[in-house]
Amino acid sequence: MPLSEPAMPLSEPDMNEVVGSHDLLLITLDTLRYDVAAELAAAGRTPNLSARMPGGAWAERHAPGSFTYASHQAMFAGFLPTPATPGPHRRLFAARFAGSETTAADTYVFETPDLVSGLAAAGYHTVCVGGVGFFNKRGPLGSVLPGYFQESHWEPEFGVTSPTSFEAQIDRAEKVIAGLDPGRRLFLFVNVSALHQPNWFHLPGATREAGDTRATHAAALEYVDRHVGRLLAALSGRGPAFAIVCSDHGTAYGDDGYTGHRLGHEVVWTVPYTHFFLEAR
Ligand SMILES: [Zn+2]
Repeated sequence: MPLSEPAMPLSEPDMNEVVGSHDLLLITLDTLRYDVAAELAAAGRTPNLSARMPGGAWAERHAPGSFTYASHQAMFAGFLPTPATPGPHRRLFAARFAGSETTAADTYVFETPDLVSGLAAAGYHTVCVGGVGFFNKRGPLGSVLPGYFQESHWEPEFGVTSPTSFEAQIDRAEKVIAGLDPGRRLFLFVNVSALHQPNWFHLPGATREAGDTRATHAAALEYVDRHVGRLLAALSGRGPAFAIVCSDHGTAYGDDGYTGHRLGHEVVWTVPYTHFFLEAR
């Protein structure tokens, strides 16, 4: 299992010093499998993401849910993917909760039920750029997760069927950032839909009939990597920022007979995670 070699440890910043002084960016690469992400990083196929990660490698983590809604509800409550080794592991963010064993001195503790409103209470402007259906604001359920944010955006071209979804999402993020008071801290959340099925159109020569595969999933991650630098640059143009990039759950492509997610299989519960600082440009 060469892919499960321990990655270089991530920095463990004091989040009480980060919150208030830095913009915050949370990118969920929806549905991205850990094994695919690790293979591509090791092969040099995601150079822009790898350049930001300690040792150029993803941290292997366990998702807090097996599908988008469950996992994002947990993440927004402060339960980011957990290191895939026995814990307890301290958390970056946590709601005040008596007896929490994963709240440490360098954990940022918020007084609200969720991190998004906690950051708003700390003076942040909170923005959601949605991707998959749970962020499409087309009905009550698709409005729950975007509803945590002061400002939320979704368009069909941000969604799973668009071959240029990530570019459209970054275009919107750039517009939002350009209109912000430069003195106000920003929490920007982007749910990237490109990895989620359907993704066959990201692999040159693939066809709708042949459908989605592990290879088209990988091609979708290469597509994201080609453009992610523009999103990071938009943030660092405002000042220093702290970025978290992770998946919310993986997905199965026939592994042990399973297809999709919202099920308990290693390819679903194992996810890639990283975090890093962005210096002001
Ligand atoms: Zn998802």
